[in-house]
Amino acid sequence: MSSIAPTYGQQKIDLVKGQGAWLYDVSGQAYLDFASGVAVTSLGHGHQALTSALTQQTHDLLHVSNLYGIPGQAALADRLTQNSFADAVFFCNSGAEAMEACFKFARRYHWHQGHPERHEILSFSGAFHGRTLATLAAGGSDKYLEGFGPKTNGFPQAAFGDLSAARALIGAKTAALVVEPIQGEGGVRPNTAEFMHGLRALADEYGVLLILDEVQTGVGRTGSFWAHEQMNLRPDLLASAKGLGGGIPIGAALMSQGVADALAPGVHGSTFGGNPLAMAAGLAVVETIDQPDFLAQVRQRGAQLAHGLESLAAGNNKVIARTRGTGLMQGLQLYPDQCVADLAAAARAQGLLSVPAGDQTLRLLPPLIISEDEIEMALCRLSAAVQAL
Ligand code: PLP
Repeated sequence: MSSIAPTYGQQKIDLVKGQGAWLYDVSGQAYLDFASGVAVTSLGHGHQALTSALTQQTHDLLHVSNLYGIPGQAALADRLTQNSFADAVFFCNSGAEAMEACFKFARRYHWHQGHPERHEILSFSGAFHGRTLATLAAGGSDKYLEGFGPKTNGFPQAAFGDLSAARALIGAKTAALVVEPIQGEGGVRPNTAEFMHGLRALADEYGVLLILDEVQTGVGRTGSFWAHEQMNLRPDLLASAKGLGGGIPIGAALMSQGVADALAPGVHGSTFGGNPLAMAAGLAVVETIDQPDFLAQVRQRGAQLAHGLESLAAGNNKVIARTRGTGLMQGLQLYPDQCVADLAAAARAQGLLSVPAGDQTLRLLPPLIISEDEIEMALCRLSAAVQAL
């Protein structure tokens, strides 16, 4: 029996080496990585900028406490607040922690404004915000909440994309609305720009904050640095993680000045959050991705992948119901009589890694450095996998 806690249904391959968009198992078998550790290894494996920044930092300094100044932290916070809605950043270690920080800061903002009764965070069905007790409550999924009750109070939920349902649930106790621009775990389900602007208008009308969960959509994944930039939207708080560290654990809660004004020394913290190693990783990743040429390349490769998936769907219209996604966050939605896990297994047998998601959808999340040829190769392998179903 394994001594690892049985929380994961693991596939029977042991991956030990990676280079670019490729992963290799213990026997040397190669896999084209269209999972990227679930949207984490944004620069692929062994990227030179990231590897040399980390090598240098391991020689210089791995960790110091936030009791002291950390120059890399100031540099990454400056980089993330330049050209964004944000004026300040709190660093932590994961997506769930970044979401928790956003929830806490939203409540603290209203407390600071003299409204401690404003504590509710309104979310949308199909959401996924993490696995802590509060983020599970915000996600609202029965499957993930089972056995972990009682559900944390203060997290009402409206139906996906339903503005009038959201309006009906907003009241004197509401602190914030939280939404993913494109639901990831929920099945690559995009919210429309119209809906997102409707949420901004609702937030303004009722004096509540708008929190964006860009843990999966952020840091170049959709072809702009943040997904919400494509909608010309202004959030008050934003959670980032995953791709921000390129494989090193990191989380970040970005906030407007109004929210930052409600914080003070001692009100929140993290032992590891913002440590020199994570900051070196974040800086190398952001400096590489946040460049017009790099992001243009992500959009081109994303269009190529989307186009190829549409052709695949057209040729297999009894299996694939639709394709959807933006940039290099793409999904294939299967008909209800098909099994997404079976398609992922068939793709794996063809040497292609992908990620099953909700709503009968297979997610394709290649590293952002993926080449034109590698996308063509992935499409061929996926086509063979669909035939094998
Ligand atoms: N938010 C979104 C949109 C996510 O996709 C995830 C993870 O998949 C999380 C939050 C939680 O992130 P983590 O697993 O790093 O806690």
